Amino acid sequence: MSEKRVALVTGASRGIGFSIAKSLERNGFDVIGTATGQNGIDSIEREFRVARGCVTALPLDVAEFSSIDAFLAELEKRELRPLVVINNAGITRDNLLIRMKDEEWTEVITANLGAVFYLCKRLIRPMLKARYGRIINITSVVGVSGNAGQTNYAAAKAGIVGFTKSLAGEVANRGITVNAVSPGLIDTDMTRGLTEKQKQRALEGIPLGRMGTPQDIAEVVAFLASDGASYITGETIHVNGGMYMA
Ligand code: NAP
Repeated sequence: MSEKRVALVTGASRGIGFSIAKSLERNGFDVIGTATGQNGIDSIEREFRVARGCVTALPLDVAEFSSIDAFLAELEKRELRPLVVINNAGITRDNLLIRMKDEEWTEVITANLGAVFYLCKRLIRPMLKARYGRIINITSVVGVSGNAGQTNYAAAKAGIVGFTKSLAGEVANRGITVNAVSPGLIDTDMTRGLTEKQKQRALEGIPLGRMGTPQDIAEVVAFLASDGASYITGETIHVNGGMYMA
């Protein structure tokens, strides 16, 4: 199997990352999927029938650089060099700024933005050597719209957009594309905490009249990972049912 067909999806045990991993696997990629703990690893292994050998499940906590180092060492040990990297794992710690603890700020910025830098810096070397690569970063509609109660998360997600464009410019001449996908309101565990009233209010602002599904996002990511998207770089693709027309 060509290294071109090895794809890493962070946070692949549930939600959007799970659907992305499924779509890439269907498109013939060898997928490396991560989760924070054993439950997530077990569920990736179960769902993907690892026995077929085309999915590898590994632990990774993007809020801890020491965990990222251990993950990278494991990839090295297994001689896995993904040339397609989907930075999907993300967390929220919502609070009004006035009440936000310093740790809530730092953890969200580290997990959602710091880890993207840290992983890209280390995973891009084999791509430079291969003169081929695809990096797809999952940002969020709130990175462009803002959202009261999410200064930390919105700042991290807006940071991803600037990071994506800048890196795209640095590596375009090596055949590496770097893009972002920006979901709107997607039905996953992350949004299951919303009250019915909050959901209803959000739905009123979505012209297509429904929440998105993880598959809605996975389809776009799979396209960006494909050869058909080889002339797209530095772009942020908004997948939000018209909730915010950038
Ligand atoms: P989710 O349902 O909460 O799933 C999160 C995934 O990330 C899980 O696989 C989880 O693994 C993993 N994860 C959680 N904390 C992690 C950490 N510290 N280190 C590494 N992995 C971690 O989230 P989702 O809704 O699918 O969101 C996926 C991405 O889309 C995120 O970047 C999110 O910000 C973005 N997004 C989501 C929405 C939405 O409406 N859902 C909207 C815009 C953007 P475990 O199973 O081990 O916990």
